[in-house]
Amino acid sequence: MNYEEYKSCLKNIEEYELNMKSQLVGSYVCISCQEKEISPLKFSKIDPLGQEHMSWDNGVVFLVSCGYGSRYDLDSFYMGICDNCIEKLDRIGILKNYREIANSQKELLSK
Ligand SMILES: [Zn+2]
Repeated sequence: MNYEEYKSCLKNIEEYELNMKSQLVGSYVCISCQEKEISPLKFSKIDPLGQEHMSWDNGVVFLVSCGYGSRYDLDSFYMGICDNCIEKLDRIGILKNYREIANSQKELLSK
């Protein structure tokens, strides 16, 4: 096999892999409004087991790993929520802001 044939085979393998991964990653319906669709951005690297790190249009996709105490202990789920619902839930105080918690913790530990 010469170098060009090798490159061609490699390209086919990469396309096959991308095609397989694309079948495992699709759009999500927002868990809050159950209307808006959150879709992977075209340029985002497809990673079926790292979807929380991909780029999404209209919202975010996150991984929930259920711990001890939950009926779903040891299960993990991918979920999506649209930007409008994040904004609404943040405004009414249902969400907890990670950055604010981190800053408060830093402040408490410095005393
Ligand atoms: Zn929504």
